[in-house]
Amino acid sequence: MSSMLVAEDLSAVGGISLSAAVPVLTAMNYQVAALPTSLLSTHTSGYGVPAVVNLADWLPRVFDHWTQAQLDFQQGLIGYVGTVELCQLLHNYLAQQKLDLLVVDPVMGDLGQLYSGFDDDYVAAMRQLIQLADVILPNVTEASLLAGVPYTAEPNLPSVLRQLQKLLKPGAHAVITDVTKNDQIGCAWLTADGVQFVGEPRLAGHYNGTGDTLAAVIAGLLGRGFSLTRSLELANQWLHIAVAETLAESRSDARQGVALGGLLRAILTLG
Ligand code: ATP
Ligand code: MG
Repeated sequence: MSSMLVAEDLSAVGGISLSAAVPVLTAMNYQVAALPTSLLSTHTSGYGVPAVVNLADWLPRVFDHWTQAQLDFQQGLIGYVGTVELCQLLHNYLAQQKLDLLVVDPVMGDLGQLYSGFDDDYVAAMRQLIQLADVILPNVTEASLLAGVPYTAEPNLPSVLRQLQKLLKPGAHAVITDVTKNDQIGCAWLTADGVQFVGEPRLAGHYNGTGDTLAAVIAGLLGRGFSLTRSLELANQWLHIAVAETLAESRSDARQGVALGGLLRAILTLG
């Protein structure tokens, strides 16, 4: 069993981010070190203003303790971080860890906008953090911000992906996660043969937690040795299952993240 450090927000209610990553990665046979980067009473979509605890004082103590306890991790997944200071703390800690794999979902915006509270300094801190990554998973908005190009919903993928690759270490991959192609939604990345795309039919509606869950699945599959292409194919198939299940349940509270039952069964079937 290898151990994966997962650093992202813990929203008590809403079933996304860390609350989704832990079951997904546990089902994939990882020991998960679940490190909240901030604590929220709910996630930030649809519940009003959550009660938030900033963990900037706690994180350095965690890293000191882990260093003393000689803990090390084979894989890492970083999602929502939240402040420039926390990005730097994570960067400094991870730079000393000899990870086989680091996946960074540079969560900071959507629909062409930075999330509230973020500015250009945050984008710069994220550019620094992704220098350690083997794979980054920006959505179209985050890709545009990192690449420093104006946002359009359907960007020039070869150009944006080439810009992103320049920010990464050699051999690392930038994968844009919410790319629309015909009636499909999926992931696009660059190889020597040009832009690659894998996707699944887009289902009706917008769902919370799809990006976080996708990132956890991709990190888990890559850490288990699946190729990038295979990991992205399976991840998109499984997210499609999760969204379809969520739709079929016609749930009373649409704010809750996607249903994970079918996705977890698919993971366990893989063996
Ligand atoms: P976030 O907005 O949470 O940061 P993101 O913008 O990176 O995430 P999403 O738009 O949430 O990405 O999509 C992530 C993945 O979830 C897609 O690649 C797809 O596999 C799946 N997905 C999301 N929405 C749908 C949908 N309406 N129908 C089918 N699959 C979907
Ligand atoms: Mg999105």
